Amino acid sequence: MLSKRLENLHPYVPGEQPKDRDYIKLNANENPYPPSERTAKAVSVLLEAQSKRLALYPDPASETLRDAIAEMLNHTGGVLCTAQIEGEGDFACRPSKADAIDFEVTRDMIFCGNGSDEVLSLVFYTFFDAETPLVLPEHTYSFYPVYAGYYGIPLDKIALKSDWSLDTDKMLSEAQTNNSALIFANPNAPTGRALTRSEIRAMLEKAPSDRAFVVDEAYVDFGGESAIALLKDFKNLVIVRTFSKSMSLAGLRIGYVVANPELIGALETVKNSFNHFPIDVLAQTAGEAACKDVSYYAANAKKIVLERDNFCDWLKERGWSVIPSATNFVFAKKDGKGGEELYRAIKAQGVLVRHFATAGIEDFLRITIGTAQQMNALKAAMENV
Ligand SMILES: *Cc1c(COP(=O)(O)O)cnc(C)c1O
Repeated sequence: MLSKRLENLHPYVPGEQPKDRDYIKLNANENPYPPSERTAKAVSVLLEAQSKRLALYPDPASETLRDAIAEMLNHTGGVLCTAQIEGEGDFACRPSKADAIDFEVTRDMIFCGNGSDEVLSLVFYTFFDAETPLVLPEHTYSFYPVYAGYYGIPLDKIALKSDWSLDTDKMLSEAQTNNSALIFANPNAPTGRALTRSEIRAMLEKAPSDRAFVVDEAYVDFGGESAIALLKDFKNLVIVRTFSKSMSLAGLRIGYVVANPELIGALETVKNSFNHFPIDVLAQTAGEAACKDVSYYAANAKKIVLERDNFCDWLKERGWSVIPSATNFVFAKKDGKGGEELYRAIKAQGVLVRHFATAGIEDFLRITIGTAQQMNALKAAMENV
Protein backbone atom coordinates (compact mmCIF):
# COMPACT_ATOMS: atom_id res chain seq x y z
CA MET A 1 0.00 0.00 0.00
CA LEU A 2 2.81 2.45 0.83
CA SER A 3 4.95 3.94 -1.93
CA LYS A 4 8.54 2.80 -2.49
CA ARG A 5 9.64 6.43 -2.11
CA LEU A 6 8.74 6.28 1.57
CA GLU A 7 11.77 4.07 2.24
CA ASN A 8 14.09 7.00 1.46
CA LEU A 9 12.54 9.29 4.06
CA HIS A 10 14.39 10.11 7.29
CA PRO A 11 12.32 12.89 8.84
CA TYR A 12 13.89 15.88 10.56
CA VAL A 13 13.56 15.97 14.34
CA PRO A 14 13.05 19.55 15.58
CA GLY A 15 14.01 20.87 19.00
CA GLU A 16 11.50 19.60 21.57
CA GLN A 17 8.47 21.78 22.41
CA PRO A 18 7.40 20.17 25.72
CA LYS A 19 4.09 20.93 27.39
CA ASP A 20 4.68 19.14 30.70
CA ARG A 21 6.57 21.97 32.38
CA ASP A 22 7.28 25.66 31.78
CA TYR A 23 10.90 25.34 30.65
CA ILE A 24 13.14 28.24 29.75
CA LYS A 25 13.46 27.42 26.05
CA LEU A 26 16.94 27.84 24.67
CA ASN A 27 16.83 24.84 22.31
CA ALA A 28 15.33 25.94 18.97
CA ASN A 29 17.09 29.24 18.19
CA GLU A 30 13.80 31.09 18.48
CA ASN A 31 13.91 34.80 19.23
CA PRO A 32 13.35 35.51 22.96
CA TYR A 33 11.59 38.80 22.16
CA PRO A 34 7.98 38.89 20.89
CA PRO A 35 7.10 40.57 17.57
CA SER A 36 6.82 44.36 17.79
CA GLU A 37 3.59 46.02 18.89
CA ARG A 38 3.05 47.35 15.37
CA THR A 39 3.42 43.83 13.97
CA ALA A 40 0.91 42.39 16.45
CA LYS A 41 -1.43 45.32 15.83
CA ALA A 42 -1.46 44.67 12.07
CA VAL A 43 -2.63 41.11 12.78
CA SER A 44 -5.29 42.17 15.29
CA VAL A 45 -6.68 44.82 12.93
CA LEU A 46 -6.98 42.16 10.25
CA LEU A 47 -8.76 39.78 12.63
CA GLU A 48 -11.07 42.35 14.18
CA ALA A 49 -11.85 44.93 11.50
CA GLN A 50 -11.16 43.04 8.27
CA SER A 51 -12.09 39.48 9.16
CA LYS A 52 -13.87 39.14 5.81
CA ARG A 53 -10.43 38.84 4.24
CA LEU A 54 -10.03 35.47 5.95
CA ALA A 55 -12.80 34.14 3.70
CA LEU A 56 -10.78 34.98 0.59
CA TYR A 57 -7.64 33.35 -0.77
CA PRO A 58 -4.44 35.27 -0.04
CA ASP A 59 -2.38 36.89 -2.81
CA PRO A 60 -0.66 33.81 -4.33
CA ALA A 61 2.39 35.87 -5.30
CA SER A 62 2.71 37.71 -1.93
CA GLU A 63 3.47 40.89 -3.86
CA THR A 64 3.10 43.39 -1.02
CA LEU A 65 5.16 41.23 1.31
CA ARG A 66 7.89 40.82 -1.32
CA ASP A 67 8.01 44.59 -1.83
CA ALA A 68 8.36 45.05 1.93
CA ILE A 69 11.14 42.44 2.14
CA ALA A 70 13.05 44.10 -0.72
CA GLU A 71 12.71 47.47 0.98
CA MET A 72 13.82 46.03 4.32
CA LEU A 73 16.94 44.55 2.69
CA ASN A 74 17.75 47.86 0.97
CA HIS A 75 17.47 49.62 4.34
CA THR A 76 19.60 47.16 6.30
CA GLY A 77 22.02 45.60 3.81
CA GLY A 78 20.61 42.28 4.98
CA VAL A 79 22.28 42.29 8.43
CA LEU A 80 20.21 43.61 11.35
CA CYS A 81 22.84 43.69 14.09
CA THR A 82 25.08 46.06 12.14
CA ALA A 83 22.32 48.21 10.59
CA GLN A 84 22.09 51.74 11.96
CA ILE A 85 18.77 52.59 13.53
CA GLU A 86 17.27 55.93 12.51
CA GLY A 87 14.18 56.72 14.57
CA GLU A 88 10.99 54.69 14.63
CA GLY A 89 9.25 55.27 11.29
CA ASP A 90 8.81 52.75 8.49
CA PHE A 91 12.06 51.00 7.45
CA ALA A 92 13.95 53.26 9.90
CA CYS A 93 17.38 51.73 9.32
CA ARG A 94 20.41 52.40 7.19
CA PRO A 95 22.95 49.71 6.23
CA SER A 96 26.37 49.87 7.80
CA LYS A 97 28.99 51.00 5.28
CA ALA A 98 30.37 47.49 4.97
CA ASP A 99 26.95 45.92 4.30
CA ALA A 100 25.58 48.48 1.82
CA ILE A 101 24.28 46.90 -1.41
CA ASP A 102 25.24 48.91 -4.50
CA PHE A 103 22.07 48.09 -6.45
CA GLU A 104 18.40 48.05 -5.55
CA VAL A 105 16.83 44.78 -4.40
CA THR A 106 13.45 44.54 -6.16
CA ARG A 107 10.33 42.38 -5.85
CA ASP A 108 11.33 40.20 -8.82
CA MET A 109 14.41 39.11 -6.85
CA ILE A 110 12.34 37.76 -3.94
CA PHE A 111 10.49 34.44 -3.66
CA CYS A 112 8.42 33.71 -0.53
CA GLY A 113 7.33 30.44 1.05
CA ASN A 114 5.82 28.91 4.14
CA GLY A 115 8.96 29.08 6.28
CA SER A 116 12.44 28.68 4.87
CA ASP A 117 12.09 24.93 5.34
CA GLU A 118 9.45 24.89 2.61
CA VAL A 119 11.51 27.32 0.56
CA LEU A 120 14.52 24.99 0.90
CA SER A 121 12.42 22.06 -0.26
CA LEU A 122 11.47 23.99 -3.42
CA VAL A 123 15.11 25.04 -3.87
CA PHE A 124 16.17 21.37 -3.76
CA TYR A 125 13.51 20.45 -6.33
CA THR A 126 14.33 23.39 -8.63
CA PHE A 127 18.14 23.31 -8.64
CA PHE A 128 19.50 19.89 -7.64
CA ASP A 129 19.08 16.55 -9.39
CA ALA A 130 19.78 12.87 -9.02
CA GLU A 131 22.55 12.79 -11.65
CA THR A 132 25.18 14.85 -9.77
CA PRO A 133 26.10 14.74 -6.09
CA LEU A 134 25.31 17.89 -4.11
CA VAL A 135 28.31 19.29 -2.20
CA LEU A 136 27.65 20.32 1.41
CA PRO A 137 29.51 20.37 4.76
CA GLU A 138 29.36 17.24 6.90
CA HIS A 139 27.93 19.21 9.83
CA THR A 140 25.37 21.74 8.71
CA TYR A 141 21.60 22.26 8.92
CA SER A 142 20.29 18.73 9.33
CA PHE A 143 17.26 19.33 7.10
CA TYR A 144 19.43 19.30 3.95
CA PRO A 145 20.05 15.52 4.03
CA VAL A 146 16.34 15.00 4.77
CA TYR A 147 15.34 16.80 1.56
CA ALA A 148 18.08 14.99 -0.35
CA GLY A 149 16.42 11.71 0.70
CA TYR A 150 12.99 13.05 -0.23
CA TYR A 151 14.08 14.02 -3.75
CA GLY A 152 16.66 11.27 -4.30
CA ILE A 153 19.63 13.64 -4.54
CA PRO A 154 23.05 12.05 -3.81
CA LEU A 155 25.24 13.93 -1.32
CA ASP A 156 28.96 14.66 -1.25
CA LYS A 157 29.58 15.57 2.41
CA ILE A 158 32.83 17.43 3.17
CA ALA A 159 34.31 17.22 6.68
CA LEU A 160 34.79 20.50 8.57
CA LYS A 161 38.31 21.68 9.34
CA SER A 162 39.74 21.14 12.83
CA ASP A 163 38.64 24.65 13.89
CA TRP A 164 35.06 23.75 12.80
CA SER A 165 35.14 26.12 9.82
CA LEU A 166 34.08 24.99 6.33
CA ASP A 167 36.75 23.34 4.20
CA THR A 168 36.03 25.62 1.25
CA ASP A 169 39.00 24.32 -0.82
CA LYS A 170 37.78 20.76 -0.58
CA MET A 171 34.16 21.77 -1.25
CA LEU A 172 35.26 23.60 -4.40
CA SER A 173 37.53 20.87 -5.72
CA GLU A 174 34.68 18.35 -5.31
CA ALA A 175 32.23 20.73 -6.99
CA GLN A 176 34.65 21.27 -9.90
CA THR A 177 35.29 17.53 -10.32
CA ASN A 178 31.61 16.60 -10.58
CA ASN A 179 30.19 19.92 -11.80
CA SER A 180 28.11 20.00 -8.59
CA ALA A 181 25.79 22.47 -6.99
CA LEU A 182 26.62 23.51 -3.41
CA ILE A 183 24.61 24.32 -0.29
CA PHE A 184 25.68 25.47 3.16
CA ALA A 185 24.46 27.75 5.92
CA ASN A 186 26.37 30.98 6.54
CA PRO A 187 26.83 31.42 9.44
CA ASN A 188 26.85 27.65 9.65
CA ALA A 189 24.67 25.64 12.02
CA PRO A 190 25.11 24.15 14.52
CA THR A 191 28.70 25.43 14.76
CA GLY A 192 27.97 29.16 14.53
CA ARG A 193 31.08 30.01 12.46
CA ALA A 194 30.77 32.34 9.47
CA LEU A 195 32.56 32.94 6.18
CA THR A 196 33.17 36.55 5.16
CA ARG A 197 31.63 37.97 2.01
CA SER A 198 35.04 38.00 0.34
CA GLU A 199 35.48 34.30 1.14
CA ILE A 200 32.08 33.61 -0.46
CA ARG A 201 33.06 35.70 -3.48
CA ALA A 202 36.26 33.69 -3.84
CA MET A 203 34.21 30.47 -3.72
CA LEU A 204 31.74 31.74 -6.33
CA GLU A 205 34.61 32.59 -8.66
CA LYS A 206 35.71 28.94 -8.65
CA ALA A 207 32.38 27.09 -8.31
CA PRO A 208 30.60 25.84 -11.47
CA SER A 209 28.78 28.89 -12.85
CA ASP A 210 26.03 26.74 -14.42
CA ARG A 211 25.13 25.20 -11.04
CA ALA A 212 23.21 26.74 -8.14
CA PHE A 213 25.32 27.99 -5.25
CA VAL A 214 22.94 28.13 -2.28
CA VAL A 215 23.71 30.07 0.91
CA ASP A 216 21.27 29.73 3.81
CA GLU A 217 21.41 32.97 5.80
CA ALA A 218 19.00 32.01 8.61
CA TYR A 219 21.40 33.52 11.22
CA VAL A 220 23.17 36.25 9.27
CA ASP A 221 21.38 39.05 11.15
CA PHE A 222 23.32 38.18 14.32
CA GLY A 223 26.80 38.85 13.02
CA GLY A 224 27.46 37.37 9.59
CA GLU A 225 28.05 39.11 6.27
CA SER A 226 25.23 38.75 3.77
CA ALA A 227 26.01 37.57 0.23
CA ILE A 228 23.20 39.73 -1.24
CA ALA A 229 25.69 42.29 -2.62
CA LEU A 230 27.26 39.47 -4.69
CA LEU A 231 24.05 38.83 -6.67
CA LYS A 232 25.14 41.50 -9.14
CA ASP A 233 28.16 39.45 -10.20
CA PHE A 234 26.92 35.86 -9.81
CA LYS A 235 23.73 34.76 -11.58
CA ASN A 236 23.87 31.29 -9.95
CA LEU A 237 23.76 32.55 -6.36
CA VAL A 238 20.63 31.63 -4.36
CA ILE A 239 20.24 33.11 -0.86
CA VAL A 240 17.69 31.61 1.55
CA ARG A 241 16.48 33.64 4.54
CA THR A 242 13.81 33.42 7.23
CA PHE A 243 11.57 35.49 9.52
CA SER A 244 11.87 32.78 12.21
CA LYS A 245 15.01 33.91 14.01
CA SER A 246 15.79 37.63 13.83
CA MET A 247 12.21 38.71 13.01
CA SER A 248 10.51 36.85 15.92
CA LEU A 249 7.92 35.14 13.68
CA ALA A 250 8.79 31.43 13.80
CA GLY A 251 5.14 30.64 14.58
CA LEU A 252 3.83 32.27 11.40
CA ARG A 253 6.17 30.50 8.94
CA ILE A 254 7.72 32.93 6.46
CA GLY A 255 10.91 32.22 4.54
CA TYR A 256 12.25 33.67 1.32
CA VAL A 257 14.87 33.48 -1.39
CA VAL A 258 16.86 36.42 -2.76
CA ALA A 259 18.25 35.65 -6.22
CA ASN A 260 18.27 36.89 -9.77
CA PRO A 261 14.81 37.15 -11.40
CA GLU A 262 15.37 34.20 -13.75
CA LEU A 263 15.93 31.83 -10.84
CA ILE A 264 12.98 33.33 -8.94
CA GLY A 265 10.84 32.55 -12.00
CA ALA A 266 11.94 28.90 -11.88
CA LEU A 267 11.03 28.69 -8.20
CA GLU A 268 7.60 30.17 -8.99
CA THR A 269 7.04 27.49 -11.62
CA VAL A 270 7.77 24.80 -9.03
CA LYS A 271 5.67 26.46 -6.33
CA ASN A 272 2.70 26.85 -8.66
CA SER A 273 2.94 23.15 -9.48
CA PHE A 274 2.73 22.25 -5.79
CA ASN A 275 0.92 24.82 -3.62
CA HIS A 276 -0.38 28.06 -5.08
CA PHE A 277 -0.97 29.80 -1.76
CA PRO A 278 1.93 29.00 0.58
CA ILE A 279 1.66 32.15 2.72
CA ASP A 280 -1.67 32.80 4.36
CA VAL A 281 -3.18 36.23 4.79
CA LEU A 282 -2.17 36.57 8.47
CA ALA A 283 1.45 35.75 7.71
CA GLN A 284 1.56 38.14 4.75
CA THR A 285 0.12 40.91 6.92
CA ALA A 286 2.46 40.29 9.85
CA GLY A 287 5.51 39.88 7.62
CA GLU A 288 4.88 43.16 5.85
CA ALA A 289 4.36 44.99 9.17
CA ALA A 290 7.52 43.43 10.62
CA CYS A 291 9.59 44.60 7.65
CA LYS A 292 8.34 48.15 8.12
CA ASP A 293 9.16 47.98 11.84
CA VAL A 294 12.65 46.64 11.14
CA SER A 295 14.31 49.07 13.58
CA TYR A 296 12.66 47.19 16.49
CA TYR A 297 14.06 43.87 15.27
CA ALA A 298 17.48 45.42 14.63
CA ALA A 299 17.56 46.69 18.24
CA ASN A 300 16.75 43.16 19.48
CA ALA A 301 19.45 41.61 17.28
CA LYS A 302 21.98 44.00 18.83
CA LYS A 303 20.85 43.01 22.36
CA ILE A 304 21.18 39.31 21.49
CA VAL A 305 24.70 39.84 20.12
CA LEU A 306 25.79 41.56 23.36
CA GLU A 307 24.23 38.83 25.46
CA ARG A 308 25.92 36.16 23.31
CA ASP A 309 29.36 37.71 23.67
CA ASN A 310 28.92 37.99 27.46
CA PHE A 311 27.82 34.36 27.65
CA CYS A 312 30.80 33.16 25.57
CA ASP A 313 33.15 34.94 27.99
CA TRP A 314 31.32 33.43 30.95
CA LEU A 315 31.68 29.93 29.49
CA LYS A 316 35.38 30.36 28.69
CA GLU A 317 36.07 31.60 32.23
CA ARG A 318 34.62 28.29 33.41
CA GLY A 319 36.78 26.13 31.19
CA TRP A 320 34.36 25.47 28.33
CA SER A 321 35.55 25.18 24.72
CA VAL A 322 33.45 27.64 22.74
CA ILE A 323 33.34 27.87 18.95
CA PRO A 324 33.28 31.56 17.91
CA SER A 325 29.65 32.40 17.09
CA ALA A 326 28.18 34.85 14.57
CA THR A 327 24.64 33.66 15.40
CA ASN A 328 21.98 33.73 18.13
CA PHE A 329 23.33 30.50 19.62
CA VAL A 330 26.57 29.15 21.05
CA PHE A 331 28.04 25.72 20.34
CA ALA A 332 30.21 24.68 23.27
CA LYS A 333 31.54 21.69 25.17
CA LYS A 334 33.13 20.99 28.51
CA ASP A 335 36.02 18.50 28.46
CA GLY A 336 35.35 15.42 30.53
CA LYS A 337 31.56 15.83 30.40
CA GLY A 338 29.25 14.17 27.90
CA GLY A 339 26.89 16.42 25.97
CA GLU A 340 23.90 14.18 26.67
CA GLU A 341 24.63 14.15 30.41
CA LEU A 342 24.95 17.96 30.54
CA TYR A 343 21.78 18.44 28.50
CA ARG A 344 19.82 16.22 30.93
CA ALA A 345 21.24 17.88 34.02
CA ILE A 346 20.41 21.36 32.71
CA LYS A 347 16.93 20.22 31.69
CA ALA A 348 16.33 18.91 35.21
CA GLN A 349 16.94 22.51 36.38
CA GLY A 350 14.19 23.76 34.07
CA VAL A 351 16.26 24.99 31.11
CA LEU A 352 16.12 23.35 27.67
CA VAL A 353 19.16 23.42 25.42
CA ARG A 354 19.85 21.30 22.32
CA HIS A 355 22.03 18.21 22.14
CA PHE A 356 22.75 16.33 18.88
CA ALA A 357 23.50 12.63 19.17
CA THR A 358 25.48 12.91 15.91
CA ALA A 359 28.97 11.36 15.76
CA GLY A 360 31.64 14.08 15.90
CA ILE A 361 29.51 16.68 17.68
CA GLU A 362 27.99 14.56 20.45
CA ASP A 363 30.00 16.32 23.19
CA PHE A 364 28.58 19.72 22.31
CA LEU A 365 25.55 21.66 23.46
CA ARG A 366 23.85 24.19 21.21
CA ILE A 367 22.53 26.94 23.43
CA THR A 368 20.18 29.61 22.08
CA ILE A 369 20.79 33.13 23.39
CA GLY A 370 17.79 34.39 25.35
CA THR A 371 17.01 37.56 27.27
CA ALA A 372 19.37 38.69 30.05
CA GLN A 373 16.93 37.18 32.56
CA GLN A 374 16.84 33.82 30.77
CA MET A 375 20.63 33.76 30.50
CA ASN A 376 20.95 34.42 34.23
CA ALA A 377 18.65 31.48 34.93
CA LEU A 378 20.71 29.33 32.57
CA LYS A 379 23.95 30.35 34.27
CA ALA A 380 22.47 29.51 37.66
CA ALA A 381 21.37 26.11 36.35
CA MET A 382 24.81 25.48 34.88
CA GLU A 383 26.54 26.43 38.13
CA ASN A 384 24.47 23.76 39.86
CA VAL A 385 25.38 21.06 37.36
C1 LIG B 1 15.92 27.67 11.59
C2 LIG B 1 16.58 27.37 10.29
C3 LIG B 1 15.86 27.27 9.11
C4 LIG B 1 14.37 27.15 9.11
O1 LIG B 1 13.70 28.26 9.28
P1 LIG B 1 12.11 28.31 9.09
O2 LIG B 1 11.96 29.55 8.27
O3 LIG B 1 11.56 28.42 10.46
O4 LIG B 1 11.64 27.10 8.36
C5 LIG B 1 16.54 27.12 7.91
N1 LIG B 1 17.88 27.02 7.89
C6 LIG B 1 18.61 27.07 9.00
C7 LIG B 1 20.09 26.94 8.93
C8 LIG B 1 17.98 27.24 10.23
O5 LIG B 1 18.69 27.23 11.35
